[in-house]
Amino acid sequence: MNTHARVNQGRWIADCLVPYCNDARELAIGQTQIICAKGHSSTVIWPPEKDVVAISDELGRRPDPSKRNWCPSEAPIHLLTGEPVDQTVEDLAAEWAEAQDAEAAQRSKANQIGQLIAGAGPVSLDELGLVLTEDGLLVPKPTDPIPFPGLAGMQFDSTGG
Ligand SMILES: [Zn+2]
Repeated sequence: MNTHARVNQGRWIADCLVPYCNDARELAIGQTQIICAKGHSSTVIWPPEKDVVAISDELGRRPDPSKRNWCPSEAPIHLLTGEPVDQTVEDLAAEWAEAQDAEAAQRSKANQIGQLIAGAGPVSLDELGLVLTEDGLLVPKPTDPIPFPGLAGMQFDSTGG
C-alpha cells in the first residue's frame, strides 16, 4: 500500500491507510518504508527532494511547531481535517504572514484593552466590540440573534401530545 508523506506539527509523517487502522509514523527525511504499530507495511511517496527541503525550510520559520503543517492532496486525512492541500512555498509564506498580521492585531487590541483598564484608553469598549459583564469580564459584544427561518410564529405543543 502507498502512503504520502506530509508534515504534521513539525514532523514529516505518513499515515497507515489500512482501513480503520488510523496509525501514523514519524519519518526520517527520505524514508520510503513504514511499518505501523499494527504491523501494516506501506511505501512512502515523497514530494520531489527540492520541495521537501523548501517546505521544511519555510515551515521552520514558524516558531510554534504546532503551526508547521503541510498536506498533499493525495493524503486522505485532509478530508477529515479540512486543512489546505498542495500548498506551495509561496502559499505557506503567505499563510504565515497572514497569521503574524492576525497576531499583531490581537496584540494591539490587548494593548488597547490594557490602556483602557489603566484609565488611559483612547478607545471605548464599544469601539473594541466588547462589553463588561456584571462579573467584571470583558467579552465580545453580543450580536443581534438571527431568527431561524420559518420558526417565527410557530406554536409548539409543550405537553408532548
Ligand atoms: Zn496500520
